[in-house]
Amino acid sequence: MSLTEDYIKQADYWSAHNYKPLPIVLERGEGVWVYDVDGKKYMDMLSAYSSLNQGHRHPRIINALIEQAGRITITSRAFHNSKMGEFIEKLCKLSGFEKALPMNTGSEAVETALKAARKWAYVKKGIPENEGEIIVCNNNFHGRTITIISFSSEEQYKSGFGPYTPGFKIIEYGNAEALRKAINDKTIAFLVEPIQGEGGVIVPPAGYLAQIRKITRENNVLLILDEIQTGFGRTGKMFAYEYEDAKPDILVLGKAMGGGVYPVSAVLAGNEVMDVFTPGDHGSTFGGNPLAAAVAIASMDVLIDEKLPQRSMELGIYFMQCLKNLNFKSIREIRGKGLMIGVEIKKEFGTARVFCERLMCKGILCKETHGQTIRFSPPLIITKEELDWALKQIASVLQ
Ligand SMILES: *Cc1c(COP(=O)(O)O)cnc(C)c1O
Repeated sequence: MSLTEDYIKQADYWSAHNYKPLPIVLERGEGVWVYDVDGKKYMDMLSAYSSLNQGHRHPRIINALIEQAGRITITSRAFHNSKMGEFIEKLCKLSGFEKALPMNTGSEAVETALKAARKWAYVKKGIPENEGEIIVCNNNFHGRTITIISFSSEEQYKSGFGPYTPGFKIIEYGNAEALRKAINDKTIAFLVEPIQGEGGVIVPPAGYLAQIRKITRENNVLLILDEIQTGFGRTGKMFAYEYEDAKPDILVLGKAMGGGVYPVSAVLAGNEVMDVFTPGDHGSTFGGNPLAAAVAIASMDVLIDEKLPQRSMELGIYFMQCLKNLNFKSIREIRGKGLMIGVEIKKEFGTARVFCERLMCKGILCKETHGQTIRFSPPLIITKEELDWALKQIASVLQ
């Protein structure tokens, strides 16, 4: 039996079976490359669902981690620490928001945004308490907590986990008129992804973000953008909303803010919204800890100093054009922005999972989403030469 099988057997035996990973066991990573326990090398084109925009073990981020680990790591928010202020100041200045609330995972940040929005509606907007409604989109992905799956349209995410949290209304994604029609005097907010990631890399029609910004503003409804996956350069801008100047009232971030090293998430908003929180309203033992703060500072510095959003834009355009030029019969559609690219496979050619397994044999790691779509989201530090190598492998599998 190979080493790989041993590791898989052990994990399978002791783990809940809530995932079905590709049969590969990773033990080392550097930049865009990862190595399995048998020493085989792969290009990481998933980047932990966009958590690794800066690549595996970026030296500046690792140094920040080690440096901070030599000082102090966790304090809890019962005390101040000497890193959190610097972290959220940098984050607020980078995104143009007045205040930040640090959390750990994406789901927690989404929950935080929903709590902020609800309280704003009851305290400031004057919606009668417990009667407010938040509008979300069909095919959304915002995490896995009970409240978040309560407004999922994916049967498997919900089934068996009821009763569900009330107060949400689902409308069609990419349809601004549907939003206008859904708003009433109980509407608190509209929560949406600028590009649906887990939903299959679904890019809304041009003008959608600007339209929903306008509609929510006209109706005194908060626009909450979930940029946990699209944020930090993934789509070719620092934040995807910049494409249409659709700065939201609440911005939710996570994934790449931790630089592929540590879970860090945050909610950003203006004072008008964030000031609804008073001491004791909300919290997190680990949120804003100095280790997370040091990592997030370095993660943002790398994105800025290495101009990774711009690189994502340029290489994304190149990569997408090369994929389109392949013109293979197996491809139904190629979608995306920057280095967030989905290739939808025609059903008669098999599932995307089968293609991902074949890509793995060719040394490329990626993951299917929604049955027919292969997602390519390599670290943004990838070079053109590395992309060309990947294209060669992808072409040989898709042909
Ligand atoms: C990954 C993701 C989340 C959830 O983040 P976790 O860290 O897994 O809780 C929420 N929203 C979007 C758009 C995501 O891609």
